[in-house]
Amino acid sequence: MTAQWSTLGKELKNTLKGRVLTRDDTGYDEARQIWNAMIDRRPAMIVQCADTDDVPLAIAFARRNKLDISIRGAGHNIAGNALCDDGLTIDFSNVKRVRVDAAKKLAYVEPGATLANLDEATQRHGLATPVGINSTTGIAGLTLGGGFGWLTRKYGLTIDNLVSVDMITAEGRKIRASETDNADLFWAIRGGGGNFGVVIQFEFALHPVGPEILAGLIVFPFSQAKQVLTRYRQFTNTSPEDLNVWVVLRQAPPLPFLPENVHGKEVVVLPIFYAGKAADGQKLINQLRAFGDPYGEHIGPQPYTEWQKAFDPLLTAGARNYWKSHNFTELSDGAMDSMIEYAGKLPSPQCEIFIGHIAGAANRVAPDAMAYAHRDAKFVLNVHGRWESPGQDMTCIEWARNFFKASAPYASAGAYTNFMTEDEDNRVAAAYGSNYDRLVQLKKRYDPENVFHFNQNIKP
Ligand SMILES: Cc1cc2nc3c(=O)[nH]c(=O)nc-3n(C[C@H](O)[C@H](O)[C@H](O)COP(=O)(O)OP(=O)(O)OC[C@H]3O[C@@H](n4cnc5c(N)ncnc54)[C@H](O)[C@@H]3O)c2cc1C
Repeated sequence: MTAQWSTLGKELKNTLKGRVLTRDDTGYDEARQIWNAMIDRRPAMIVQCADTDDVPLAIAFARRNKLDISIRGAGHNIAGNALCDDGLTIDFSNVKRVRVDAAKKLAYVEPGATLANLDEATQRHGLATPVGINSTTGIAGLTLGGGFGWLTRKYGLTIDNLVSVDMITAEGRKIRASETDNADLFWAIRGGGGNFGVVIQFEFALHPVGPEILAGLIVFPFSQAKQVLTRYRQFTNTSPEDLNVWVVLRQAPPLPFLPENVHGKEVVVLPIFYAGKAADGQKLINQLRAFGDPYGEHIGPQPYTEWQKAFDPLLTAGARNYWKSHNFTELSDGAMDSMIEYAGKLPSPQCEIFIGHIAGAANRVAPDAMAYAHRDAKFVLNVHGRWESPGQDMTCIEWARNFFKASAPYASAGAYTNFMTEDEDNRVAAAYGSNYDRLVQLKKRYDPENVFHFNQNIKP
């Protein structure tokens, strides 16, 4: 088979501008590395596109040769769908330009761009759009699943700021989707993932942000977790949308502003982001400090692009990861108690439980306005199992699953597809809730043969 793939690879190389890597090629193993080291898949060939003209050629070739297709943006998806065993991976690592029209407040983004690529280009003009919190994440996968981050309370999900996409369909046709062109397809791709075709350009609306914002961390003792969470619940009921405070329960990393004897201890971390006037932000942050007796803090004005990279050192590629996620409309006592119980028995120093606050603009969009349905979600919980050695797989996965079960009674319906692991096929319908049936109809129309099935798959 490998010899046959090698011959096929040579044939494909002659038709494309980009690189085609098969198993014997130098660089193949490097090209099949993705963020989550739990995923070890070996595509028959990896097409490293030179530009987006390579996409229809790669799709046609794969279909002719009955090869599965997977699509790789920045390879961050926890389920590993960027890669397919024995199939053809369309890899956008080299296609990541961002063009900004500052006058119109629009950004045009190629499919391999990371959040850092987008933030750097837009911040040159003091503009931004809501994206995630780890700068090496891909814009493509993040957007197609929904996308949330520090600006979400104020400006909504990433998809709420998507103006149009250019796509290549399963038949290799180039089409545009927006509110006015192929509106049903535009509805479907805003949350429907890579189910409907390959996006070759995203167009985003931008907003004035920064370039300096106020941000940082306050770290509390774990013994004060219930008190801090209870006050956080009260505070977030009324806090302004310029402010976004998350909660992370984990062991303290060796941060220089924490006493050494706290390093490695369970703590409650409040990451804080404020997009308004610094003086107003400081008053709000004073209220946060009073949630307990902090071990330490590190807060101040800083460039937005720096804060967007602040968590990168904790979220490097190459560790083993297993995630589980719930949406919450409120943080009940039961939910908090289960978080505290499981944060009290973290199976590895890198495991954490985090709560992202998304209440605000995202809740003002109707649940049927686009494929992403969970407009009542105010908090997204991620049980982030992360460790280094394969020997810890069972313990860490079991911890994440048990916590997921224990917190389920307090969660609202649905799930965020971008946080779903490879064993969560059975959650796909629930993840789309009342929009699932319409998505199935659109899948039948745009991809009846399920050419694009390496994703949280909507079966036609
Ligand atoms: C460390 C880390 C932090 C994260 N933080 C956040 C966060 O703050 N907020 C948030 O919302 N999410 C966050 N996520 C989740 C993230 O949104 C998803 O993992 C997302 O899928 C990553 O996109 P990617 O392009 O890097 O992934 P890939 O693995 O490259 O792609 C994921 C899937 O998207 C589809 N896809 C990719 N490119 C295309 C394309 N051009 N056309 C069609 N389909 C395509 C394919 O189905 C592919 O399998 C985080 C993930 C990680 C690992």
